[in-house]
Amino acid sequence: MSVDTFESQFDRLLVAVAPPTPNGDLHLGHLSGPYLATDVYSRYWKSQGKQVYFVTGSDDHQSYVHTKGMKMGKSPKEVVEIFGTSIPKTLDSANIKLDFFLKPYHTPEYQSFVQKFFTGLVENGALEKRKGPAFFCEACNLYLYEAHVSGGCPGCHEKTNGNGCEKCGFVNDCIDLQDPKCNHCHSTPATREYERFYFPLNKYSDYLRGYFSKVSMNGHLHALTKKMIREGYPDVSATHLAGWGIPVPDQSGHVIYEWVEMAAGYLYLAETLTGSWEKFFKDPRSLWVLGYGFDNAFFYTSFIPALLHAYDAEIQPPRAFLSNEFYLLKGLKFSTSRNHAVWGDEFLAKIPADQMRYYLSYTRPEIEQTNFDPSEFETTIQKEFILGWEGWVRDLPKKGNSDPLDERRRFEQRMEELRVLTEACYRAESFSLRSAVRLLNQLVFEASQYGKKWEFTGGAVAAQAFALRQLARASAPLLPDFSTRAGVLAKEMGA
Ligand SMILES: [Zn+2]
Ligand SMILES: [Zn+2]
Repeated sequence: MSVDTFESQFDRLLVAVAPPTPNGDLHLGHLSGPYLATDVYSRYWKSQGKQVYFVTGSDDHQSYVHTKGMKMGKSPKEVVEIFGTSIPKTLDSANIKLDFFLKPYHTPEYQSFVQKFFTGLVENGALEKRKGPAFFCEACNLYLYEAHVSGGCPGCHEKTNGNGCEKCGFVNDCIDLQDPKCNHCHSTPATREYERFYFPLNKYSDYLRGYFSKVSMNGHLHALTKKMIREGYPDVSATHLAGWGIPVPDQSGHVIYEWVEMAAGYLYLAETLTGSWEKFFKDPRSLWVLGYGFDNAFFYTSFIPALLHAYDAEIQPPRAFLSNEFYLLKGLKFSTSRNHAVWGDEFLAKIPADQMRYYLSYTRPEIEQTNFDPSEFETTIQKEFILGWEGWVRDLPKKGNSDPLDERRRFEQRMEELRVLTEACYRAESFSLRSAVRLLNQLVFEASQYGKKWEFTGGAVAAQAFALRQLARASAPLLPDFSTRAGVLAKEMGA
């Protein structure tokens, strides 16, 4: 039976998850957010017969790679080599199975593709070249933007780095930060002017207003997009005088801002995977879904769609966002720089991927911040998954069958209903891994109660096998290893 869903209108899905910055390995905060969500989403839609391209890449040219290198006494290239290698391994250990992982620094044809995109924007007048102010640190001999500078957010006044505020999701142009400081030497920077390219984003506010009304996104993003339209967008620097990034053609010392690069990156990914980005992005049967954390909401909701529209108005922007809030560790923000983190590779060396996926789904920060606590992880996994799920499976009867037929039918209908409800949690418009895991817990609970009821009369094997089959199907995108084992057993039991 096919269900009429938002996704039914499309044949091909590009599911792109925010490219991890190779300035550290992935911690549970990263994994709990967009990576697990888009993996589950992709697995589900592949199982429904859609052509799905699940992609990401390493965000090699980020200013955060440069600043990490300065801290480690290494070049940005060396930093990319270290973490650009470990990140895909961690994703793989978490059973997050991408179809393609782009390595920008190691892909020269990607870099020329980005430069061509940039030149296209200049040629069609989307970017304006003019003199503008920028912070300059005399002590470090460095122009400061994004990772290099911090100060008070012009929107919410909380301390933030340049360009995007983690707290309120708003953009800043660095130069508007209150009480700015160089992130390397903590001195107050000077202001200097130089000529560069700007993207006048506010010109696209009518386009964005119309666009937002058509996108599947949660309430927090809706509120932010409304606020941004109401308050107006600033002009955003599209190039910087910096030592790390893809060079601006014919402008020595200048690099393309990595969020401009990223917009081009989606076209490159579609070109590489499908043969033609135009055919993919201009086809009404193609769906582009983006997964990311709220702290980058400005770039994904506004900057990238507007930039692509400015490049070619026929490009169809993402139609669904799978977003998340911050995941906390013992009540505090995960932090790579303060090493307040549980690292994915270390955690997965001790814990099976399914158990991690179970708990990250159970506590996923979908609409509010949630918390990872190691002792709560132990308790929940022990009680719900090891005793609950695996305990039920281990004790399933292998023979005998004497439950009354009408009662079994009612039970089987209920199991099917719980499976269908769980699967609805894997669709963009009602996406919730927290709900999915709770519905699956309910399925296991009701199935085990039913089993106990008929335990003394021979076991209700057929009904239990049916329940196990439903659990295997409904848990497949979430807990792929468990699902495979459960599917095999259900078959052995005759389901
Ligand atoms: Zn702010
Ligand atoms: Zn400095």
